Amino acid sequence: MPGYELWSANEKKEVNDVLETGILMRYGFDGPRKGIWKSKELETAICETFECKYAQLTSSGTSALTTAMSALGIGYGDEVITPSFTFVASFEAVLSVGAIPVLVDVDDTLTLDPAAVKKAITSKTKAIMPVHMCGSMADLDALAAICKEHDLILLEDACQSIGGTYKGKSLGTIGDAGTFSFDFVKTMTCGEGGVVMTNREDIYIKSDAYTDHGHDHKGADRGADLHPFIGYNYRISELHAAVGLAQVKRVPEFLAIQKKNHRLLKDMLATVPEISFRRIPDPDGDSCSFISWFLPTREITAAVINEMKAQGILPGNFYWFDNNWHYIRKWDHLKNAITLNSLHPDMKARVTEEANKDLSTSDAIMSRCISTSISLLWTEEQIKDKGEKMVATVKKVLKEQGVSA
Ligand SMILES: *Cc1c(COP(=O)(O)O)cnc(C)c1O
Repeated sequence: MPGYELWSANEKKEVNDVLETGILMRYGFDGPRKGIWKSKELETAICETFECKYAQLTSSGTSALTTAMSALGIGYGDEVITPSFTFVASFEAVLSVGAIPVLVDVDDTLTLDPAAVKKAITSKTKAIMPVHMCGSMADLDALAAICKEHDLILLEDACQSIGGTYKGKSLGTIGDAGTFSFDFVKTMTCGEGGVVMTNREDIYIKSDAYTDHGHDHKGADRGADLHPFIGYNYRISELHAAVGLAQVKRVPEFLAIQKKNHRLLKDMLATVPEISFRRIPDPDGDSCSFISWFLPTREITAAVINEMKAQGILPGNFYWFDNNWHYIRKWDHLKNAITLNSLHPDMKARVTEEANKDLSTSDAIMSRCISTSISLLWTEEQIKDKGEKMVATVKKVLKEQGVSA
């Protein structure tokens, strides 16, 4: 999955260009920066690589989501439908603009179940935010149709699926806007960083100003810029953008390795008839950063996890159902709407109401799911060894549980 695994001289060179001038800020200082504009270059490279019209870099994937929501006019009292299986950043961003996160069930794609989305729509719903988890995508045709029918915004959280595609288009470029994260463990990294991608000029112009205190970037200098609205500082630095510039050029290389390693390991797991795999709406578009697989029951899955732990082969395998980061079951801070700043009592009531809804359909899926992250550093021999150990562990548990002979 992560680009940091293949750190190279290219990243160093790009960072050194910035260190030579000492201009670490992305705006202004036109003379002393001597033609070095890493952030601008990276935005252009993102537009070319992922085929979108506009890209606005941000300080993180989380701030990219907040920026996109603000630019799309999502705010007080609006409801945003998003999945129960995601990263905390998704609902943090919704709350940051004063909107209500409405977390609904996932299906066997591990992303939004279109039927659950339809059921959750109210007169307050403003946007649907699918999260393309673990490298693969939501059923975007079905979600786009729902958005069209109900006049809703489609915002893609593609932070975890850089390089994935749906019917030939890059994930993150299909909705009204989409975001990537370039944090340290993502497919390509800036160290920290993110981007809002869109094909709508109005969304881009707003994102550009919003991430820099509302500056319209039309003045002769920063003091002469106008502020058409209030913004924040979600800027990326030139040092971070420089790392990203080296990494974006290597995305095809990362994806090729990822896909090869994924196929080798998946073929081995597929020899066990009791193992099934995540449904992928467009299999050709899987970025292959993870293999997500299912076992027949929650008990068997928990036993396999325990056995993997005992054998020392758990690292790189994730049981999200029992994880504090990615699944709603253990998000007590959200369920109780515990914030440092005070929320309007009506908002607090709605947030807790939504976060405590029945999600037993998601539980039934997530409790049987294990995701195995794909390393770019594995040798074929290591994959074979890993696969053999995983298969043996699963078979041992199935036998102990009386499922297979
Ligand atoms: C990583 C991630 C984010 C947030 O990215 P940061 O850059 O870490 O703020 C948002 N959503 C998902 C699904 C992610 O995996």
